[in-house]
Amino acid sequence: MLYQIYAVQCSCCLAYHVQRQMELVDTLARPTRDLRISVTDRCNFRCSYCMPKSVFGRDYAFLPRAELLTFEEVERAARAFRRAGVTKIRLTGGEPLLRRGIEDLVSMLARIDGIDLTLTTNAALLADKAHALRRAGLDRLNVSLDSLDDETFRTMNDVDFPVTKVLEGLEAATAVGFIPIKVNMVVKRGVNDADVVSMAEYFRNTGHVVRFIEFMDVGTTNGWRLDDVVPAREIVDRITGAHPLEPVDAAYRGEVAQRWRYADGAGEIGVISSVTQPFCGDCTRARISADGKVFTCLFAARGHDMRALLRDGAGDEEVDRWLASIWRARDDRYSEIRSTATASTPKVEMSYIGG
Ligand code: SAM
Ligand code: SF4
Ligand code: SF4
Repeated sequence: MLYQIYAVQCSCCLAYHVQRQMELVDTLARPTRDLRISVTDRCNFRCSYCMPKSVFGRDYAFLPRAELLTFEEVERAARAFRRAGVTKIRLTGGEPLLRRGIEDLVSMLARIDGIDLTLTTNAALLADKAHALRRAGLDRLNVSLDSLDDETFRTMNDVDFPVTKVLEGLEAATAVGFIPIKVNMVVKRGVNDADVVSMAEYFRNTGHVVRFIEFMDVGTTNGWRLDDVVPAREIVDRITGAHPLEPVDAAYRGEVAQRWRYADGAGEIGVISSVTQPFCGDCTRARISADGKVFTCLFAARGHDMRALLRDGAGDEEVDRWLASIWRARDDRYSEIRSTATASTPKVEMSYIGG
């Protein structure tokens, strides 16, 4: 049987609507729950761990506009994933705030019942966009910020972007009601690991949650070496040395961050330990690239062309069957089998597939 039928109560009119959803798990019994949608492969930063300038230079061939999914196509894809069991959608990129009219897309997706809608941004344009995003119905925000030290931050974004502008974006987002915001810091040994404790301290008692991310071997261009990874355990130990932490249970299956709270009640932090303590066993994430390819793992080499299906006029049932056949065949567990050899295998870039 392809669908289960169930009723959901509409939050606006309180009436019950009948919906259909597929009962779908992959070969390792993992359902599909989270969808990350990349809305552009372009970015106004050149973080060396993601889009190094040596590769993403002036003549880099980004996707032409006609190849990007239109907002209507994104909405159709999102609704298909909703029927497949997805309850959380994250808009990402590249830098999603560079996509013109992003707030219109947000309002289209916010109308889908049963979806928690979030967006990840480098916050360069957030001060101008926060209000429109909130008004359009965005539920939550993640902001990437790798250091509070201006020099380190400018070096890491590699476009000389000042940290004060990101903090202004955070402030504007907080003022319109985005709280808590998850603040993502990728930690690279010898580059910004000295800033871990100051970052934790800055966000204590603010309601926001810093999430420290182990530097990953995404793509093939970021020169990843295991020696550059600061293990999550070491990050927790460093913070707890200054402000004691205690573990918090995961809020739901597939939560990527391990949660910790300050013993003195000053809030929470998270660590994302994809390298040293992989969590593939609970991975319920799918991704769509800006040109409409479905990827079932961040480290995959190839995606499945949903855009072709949509542009060929496939109906919803055909799209659902196609999606079901992809998810049922899924056996990805890259982080569990990572080795020095796998680090150089072909993989798509994170700016294309969506982080
Ligand atoms: N441009 C937006 C931003 O930076 O927030 C969204 C896209 S970015 C690819 C999404 C997230 O992926 C960011 O938090 C970024 O720090 C993280 N990221 C990128 N490359 C990474 C890597 N090699 N290891 C770990 N995290 C990475
Ligand atoms: Fe751009 Fe985000 Fe990648 Fe940095 S991490 S280069 S901000 S896409
Ligand atoms: Fe999921 Fe792939 Fe990451 Fe494992 S490596 S957690 S399967 S995205």
